[in-house]
Amino acid sequence: MIISESKRLFEKAQNFIPGGVNSPVRAFRAVGGDPLFIKKADGAFIYDEDDNAYIELINSWGPMILGHNHPLIREAVIKAMENGTSFGAPTAREVEIAELIVSMVPSVEKVRMVNSGTEATMSAIRVARGYTGRDKFIKMEGHYHGHGDSFLIAAGSGAMTMGNPDSPGVTKGTAKDTLLAPYNNLEAIEKLISANKGEIAALILEPVPGNMGLCLPMPGYLQGLRDICTREGIILIFDEVMTGFRLAKGGAQELFGVTPDMTTLGKIIGGGMPVGAYGGKKEIMDFVSPVGPVYQGGTLSGNPIAMAAGLGMLHYLNDHPEVYTRLNEIGMQLSSGFASINQKLGVDYTINQLGSMYSLFFTSGNVTDFDSAKMSDTALFGKYFQAMLRRGVYLGPSQFESLFLSIALTDEIIERILNAHEESIKEILG
Ligand SMILES: *Cc1c(COP(=O)(O)O)cnc(C)c1O
Repeated sequence: MIISESKRLFEKAQNFIPGGVNSPVRAFRAVGGDPLFIKKADGAFIYDEDDNAYIELINSWGPMILGHNHPLIREAVIKAMENGTSFGAPTAREVEIAELIVSMVPSVEKVRMVNSGTEATMSAIRVARGYTGRDKFIKMEGHYHGHGDSFLIAAGSGAMTMGNPDSPGVTKGTAKDTLLAPYNNLEAIEKLISANKGEIAALILEPVPGNMGLCLPMPGYLQGLRDICTREGIILIFDEVMTGFRLAKGGAQELFGVTPDMTTLGKIIGGGMPVGAYGGKKEIMDFVSPVGPVYQGGTLSGNPIAMAAGLGMLHYLNDHPEVYTRLNEIGMQLSSGFASINQKLGVDYTINQLGSMYSLFFTSGNVTDFDSAKMSDTALFGKYFQAMLRRGVYLGPSQFESLFLSIALTDEIIERILNAHEESIKEILG
């Protein structure tokens, strides 16, 4: 029997890396089977260590919106490398990218670069607390903001209780300052606020959540949050690590016309390099050290190579609005194609799609929040994932992920995806 190179590497990796991976979802635990080890990627395809090619629908969890190995970004990185990899001192590129982000993202008047989405959200919450002098904040059930302690919180029992640690190592002391609310429910927010009057520093959410599968905000919901936060002096933070530069060049806030006080960014902003950022109103951002009292720093923040990649990406998106038109087309072609195949074959499903993000849930009910997302048949999703993989289509390895499309998907590739989908649904229905 031939052992695949991915399997051999995974077995070896488990001796030296916890679970063999550097981020848990990569281990394929939610869908079964062993993860693929990736050798290279180009355009719409990634290639595993056994040289099998797969069509990419997850794209490094979002960053590769232009497809993999885009020549512009590759060349920007190679050119930057010729002058050294890190200085730990200010550079011209940091000024250029900050100015560009401010021009693209409506809420951002000043911005601080960090090295991941996790760092961005952790820092934004600290600044909001420092600025308001309040300790508590609200997050939404099923929304993901990275692995900072105060975000790894599960809902307590009963609608009004405070959060519980959702991971060993997170203390009850930390958990008590995180309040959980269901998404798309303004009434629940009002209740939480009146039970914690004057104590809430911030409300953070994914305006269009993609981490419980993709859900869309109900009409008026984001504006409703904006109005409540303004009334209560609560800092409204949009976590646009996924949606920033993806749903529009200015993210979900541009698309829905609702401007938060602060925004966190990641993924696309680094063009595939480890980059995050947080920004917002000048008077809030001027609370950050060295000009303000809230400490936040980073040895490699604003790294010259990472900034070169990010600048290549953001300039391209800023100068090519047609990217978003094309991404919308691709998203619609795929979701309408999936829908008609699913109806024909009689599988229970719901598709949520917005621009270049979509999730196919195996449930017939509307998916609007964490509770409704959890109604999905995750075992069936696991079979679907494996069936698609065998047909050369690489999806996110969990029902509760959004897919991320790139402009490298041609009409011919879309046709191949739809064919793989039809065969896979037939197979899993047996
Ligand atoms: C991915 C993600 C994060 C975490 O970013 P990392 O770079 O993985 O730390 C935070 N928030 C949202 C909405 C994300 O999708």
